[in-house]
Amino acid sequence: MTKRDPAKKKEYDQQYCLQNQEAIRARHKAYYEANRDAIVVRQKAYYETNRENLLIQSRQYREEHRAELGIQEAIYREKNREALRITAKAYRRANPEKVKAKNAAYYQKNRDALRAKRKIYREANREERCIAAKRWQENNPDKYAAIHQRSEHRRRARLANVSGEYTQEQWYQILTRYGMACAKCGRSLTRRSATVDHFVPIVAGGPNCAENLQPLCKSCNSRKHTRIPTFEEQLAFIARRKALGLPAALIAEVL
Ligand SMILES: [Zn+2]
Repeated sequence: MTKRDPAKKKEYDQQYCLQNQEAIRARHKAYYEANRDAIVVRQKAYYETNRENLLIQSRQYREEHRAELGIQEAIYREKNREALRITAKAYRRANPEKVKAKNAAYYQKNRDALRAKRKIYREANREERCIAAKRWQENNPDKYAAIHQRSEHRRRARLANVSGEYTQEQWYQILTRYGMACAKCGRSLTRRSATVDHFVPIVAGGPNCAENLQPLCKSCNSRKHTRIPTFEEQLAFIARRKALGLPAALIAEVL
């Protein structure tokens, strides 16, 4: 064998590698361990300078090997389920904005499919969902009553074709400003016992917004029913709102 014959040299090298696999591997490992920091720095630098190409390559590879990678990933996920769950939870907690944006983008992109899927799910689980909703109602009577009342008001406003919308927070603020007491008789109220009264009734064109709401006890509310307040009552209402620091502008427009 002449030393300068490249083909022979290559063959010899291959043979050598095959025969000394273990030793070579051990030597590589030792080298890596001895020079770990330098290697990591070098790898990082290489990655930074070739980032675009590497990303393209890896995308290409993933596309070409999609099926095998899918199986590998499924096995990996199954094996590491608990650890992955914890990592994902920590990530969500640390990056709420990113997660929110990503979810919104995903929803936008797949809206129709997601809606169809949800509809199928709802129909298939109708009974369980009813039971769960009922249980929630039983465990959260105050919240349920408030939500129910608010949606009933929305419905009535829609039917009467009047404008406006109020939030739960706005209602609780009004209730607090009125000193947790009935606006008419002064009886003390809880969030549970207070009823939402539209000062100018919805059927009389009163808007369904915070400016038109006051707390009444149940008996005052049912006594008042849909009576339209007199002019004097309206002036008194506005004066009281202003004194309590609650807006009354919109209602003044209606009157
Ligand atoms: Zn009352």
